[in-house]
Amino acid sequence: MQKPSSDKRLRILQTVDNLRRWYSLDDKRLCAICDRVIDGHQIEIRRVAGQYSLHCPTTDCPSNFSHWFLYHEPGIRRTDSERLREQAVAAPPQVPPSTAEMSFVSWADR
Ligand SMILES: [Zn+2]
Repeated sequence: MQKPSSDKRLRILQTVDNLRRWYSLDDKRLCAICDRVIDGHQIEIRRVAGQYSLHCPTTDCPSNFSHWFLYHEPGIRRTDSERLREQAVAAPPQVPPSTAEMSFVSWADR
C-alpha cells in the first residue's frame, strides 16, 4: 500500500477534519475512544470510493476525527526521542477501552 507524502497527508487532514485545524503533522490529538495521543504522522488515511477518511492508528479503535480533541503537551517542549521513551513506559489508561467505548457510543447516539 502506498503512503501519501507528508504534504499530501497534511492537506488530507486539513480537508477531511473540518472540526479542528491542522497546522502541521506534528499537531497532536487525544483520541477520546482509546485515550491515546496521536499525531498527524500516525493517523491512518484510507481512501474509499474516492473519499478520504481518517482513522485512529490503534487497532480496532472505531473513532474518527470527531472524537479527537486538541492535545497540548504539558510543560516544556521535549525532543521526539525523549517523548517516545516516555510514551513507551506510560501507564495504560485507567478505564478499560471497551467500557469507555460503550459509554461514548451510547452518549453520542442520543
Ligand atoms: Zn483511538
